[in-house]
Amino acid sequence: MVGFSGSRKWIYVQSIEGKFTTIRRWTFLALHIVLFVLPWIRINEDPALLFELQTRRLFVLGAVFTAADTIFLLIILLFATFTLFFVTSLFGRLWCGYACPQTVFLEAWIRPVEKWIEGDRSRRLRRERMGISFDLVWRKAAKWTVFLLVAFVLSMAMMSYFAGARELWSFNGGRVEYTLVAIFTLAWFFDFAWFREQFCNYLCPYARFQGALTDDETIQISYLPDRGEPRGGKEAAADGRCIDCGKCVVVCPAGIDIRDGFQLECIACARCIDACVSVMDKLEHPTLVDYTSVAAMEGRKPRLLRPRTFVYGAMLAGLIVVGGAMVWGRVPFEATVNRAPGSLYTIDADGLVRNTYFLKITNNSSAEEPVLYRVRVDGLPEAEVVVQDLELASRESRTVPLVIRVPASDDLLRTIPLQVYVTSTDGELIVDATFKTGAEIGTATTAR
Ligand code: SF4
Ligand code: SF4
Repeated sequence: MVGFSGSRKWIYVQSIEGKFTTIRRWTFLALHIVLFVLPWIRINEDPALLFELQTRRLFVLGAVFTAADTIFLLIILLFATFTLFFVTSLFGRLWCGYACPQTVFLEAWIRPVEKWIEGDRSRRLRRERMGISFDLVWRKAAKWTVFLLVAFVLSMAMMSYFAGARELWSFNGGRVEYTLVAIFTLAWFFDFAWFREQFCNYLCPYARFQGALTDDETIQISYLPDRGEPRGGKEAAADGRCIDCGKCVVVCPAGIDIRDGFQLECIACARCIDACVSVMDKLEHPTLVDYTSVAAMEGRKPRLLRPRTFVYGAMLAGLIVVGGAMVWGRVPFEATVNRAPGSLYTIDADGLVRNTYFLKITNNSSAEEPVLYRVRVDGLPEAEVVVQDLELASRESRTVPLVIRVPASDDLLRTIPLQVYVTSTDGELIVDATFKTGAEIGTATTAR
């Protein structure tokens, strides 16, 4: 038993080669290319993907999202969540085995480094059984030093998505960014050197609720007891049954025996399939561990389209439509209207009621040409509006006064809704505001 508390049984994973190991290596390579290269790519002088912490702006493939676009962040999070639900309901924990950073970094960096410095499973076990020695100590020290270096490089790569790759890697980033890099580095080092599979078993929420996302028709990695049992014995090799070699167990990074059935600890890495294939190939029999489903093992035909996959798929399609429509109708500028502090309304000497606001416009587009923004007010037919049109360069933000004056009359309501239209060649934004009056309108002449 692998325990977070109490005695920890260390897992000495044996290396393995095979079809799924190769597929996973290519996947890891692709993910590393994304991790390390994407923050360096620029589109119209903006990073292809960057969440700028200080300004709270998100750059995505040439578009800029600000705090006013929080709804998009919500849609992206919902999309990621339902994609995970959808894929899990069809193929189980594919994410864990092929794309989770914990798995990717352990498999791509940590286990190869461990094997390079300390040797494979049997050599490591033998050395550690012999107790403390100079050989053991220097190898552990060397391994942890490399782990620390790897943790630092990975943390810098991840932080590049928040602080800008050029600034960060040229060590021109801010103190906050490097403090976060230091925290991430220590967290990853702790994970690589000690925590490892315990993260999946005790901290990862996905591992906890994945049981609720799968059913008998979900394709998962399983031992095939119909062909494998009874295991062992003289005839097992000839019959194509499990020869009880234990290879599927010693390659497992979760330290479990897939032959015991579905277990929460399984991260669906498929190493046990490669292990059994390597054994059964030599005996000229098919593997006893494979991707399958409970339905298939019971002789039923698994269905791809079932109520749960239909619901998750429909949610995904809905989010794509809603998100797509919102992106389509989105304009690359922001406008806000705020009442001038301390003034609700004023009655001017000529008897007109005056409300004063501040209009702020931000040009989020990356186009080189400045953009002209025209402003008009709707909702107050007899209003006299004083506001200037604005021409803003890319990323420029400016605040100007907006004064609205309305002839005082007994008919005026205390609060009158109005709309401020900001129009440019990129589109139009409508900002809601209110015009305020008071009880004395029509009679009072003193300013407030
Ligand atoms: S049981 Fe197989 S698929 Fe599951 S974690 Fe172990 S080796 Fe990976
Ligand atoms: S690798 Fe295959 S044959 Fe060996 S113990 Fe596992 S299931 Fe049995």
